[in-house]
Amino acid sequence: MPTLREVGEIEALRRLIAGGRAREGSAVPAGDARAGDAAEGAVVLGAGDDAAVLRPRDGHDLVATTDALVENVHYLSDWLGAEALGARLATVNLSDLAAMGAAPRWALVSIGARPEREVDDLVALERGIAEALEADGAVIVGGNLTAVAGAEWSSLTLLGETRRGAAWTRHGARAGDWIAVSGFPGRAGAGSRLALAMGEAARAPLWRPLIQAWGAPRSQVPLAMALAAEGAVTAAIDVSDGFAGDLARMCEASGMGATIDEELLPEDRLLEQAARALGVAPEELRFGPSDDYELLVTLAAAGRDACEAAAERLGVPFGVVGVVTETRGRVDLRDSRGEVRPMPRGGYDHFRAASPIR
Ligand SMILES: [Mg+2]
Repeated sequence: MPTLREVGEIEALRRLIAGGRAREGSAVPAGDARAGDAAEGAVVLGAGDDAAVLRPRDGHDLVATTDALVENVHYLSDWLGAEALGARLATVNLSDLAAMGAAPRWALVSIGARPEREVDDLVALERGIAEALEADGAVIVGGNLTAVAGAEWSSLTLLGETRRGAAWTRHGARAGDWIAVSGFPGRAGAGSRLALAMGEAARAPLWRPLIQAWGAPRSQVPLAMALAAEGAVTAAIDVSDGFAGDLARMCEASGMGATIDEELLPEDRLLEQAARALGVAPEELRFGPSDDYELLVTLAAAGRDACEAAAERLGVPFGVVGVVTETRGRVDLRDSRGEVRPMPRGGYDHFRAASPIR
């Protein structure tokens, strides 16, 4: 298996571009122009030139995000192969566009790899990125490859579209709106903590859903598109740091507070089992640091049923877990006895992290 040092940058790039190009046309949404076409909403010029030329559709806003994964900071190579790493890189960015209610369209990839890295690993990384993007309607239109001496990293810049003025924000929540979340918050954090605490034993089939939530999260773009069609979302954020932290962030941006009803949270026996194995309180896993890439939204009261029905049609777990309140900056938890206390705050701060891995 040749390494980057053996084939050189030009040949490595050629192989990466060849991989990306093969899928480029197929991922352009039906009705849109293909490369070089003069119609709107198209990749006018894709990877291979000095820069890509993109043409947003008329009446749309361009929505942009970027995120990087750094070896030993965001992932452990022993737990994540190249293709899974690529899928994860795509998902963390897709998740940010989902949180804006934006349809993903175009991506730029930047990779920092050691010269001893096998070229096939890079091709697998790129394939992982491209396939995850393609599933949500986006394509790679360019990239950059650079040699590093230390930790490897990969970075994605993702562009998407919303109808003009229709992008969701964190600041639109109003008192009385429902708070709803997809999936099972806390599972990714539980998976990473199991892997760190148990090592190989965390690969047992029992823990697989948690390890997968950590290593192979899926994007909630289809759910976001379905909710956008209902027109009831008033604010949104993706759970990338943890349920409590991201909810507090959305409330803060909106100048509101929240009360979460413990009884409405999805039952998660496996998370409780993980908490026992780790010797921590279940709520520490459920609300604490966890990059789940689930969608956390507030809904105008009248739109609740339609949004829950839309999620159900997709087969995505999604439901109301609380309500927005006027008590600015205050996030409460109401337990099964009706007692209310402040929600244990968590969330991940990259510069204050106790653990090097998330
Ligand atoms: Mg985000």
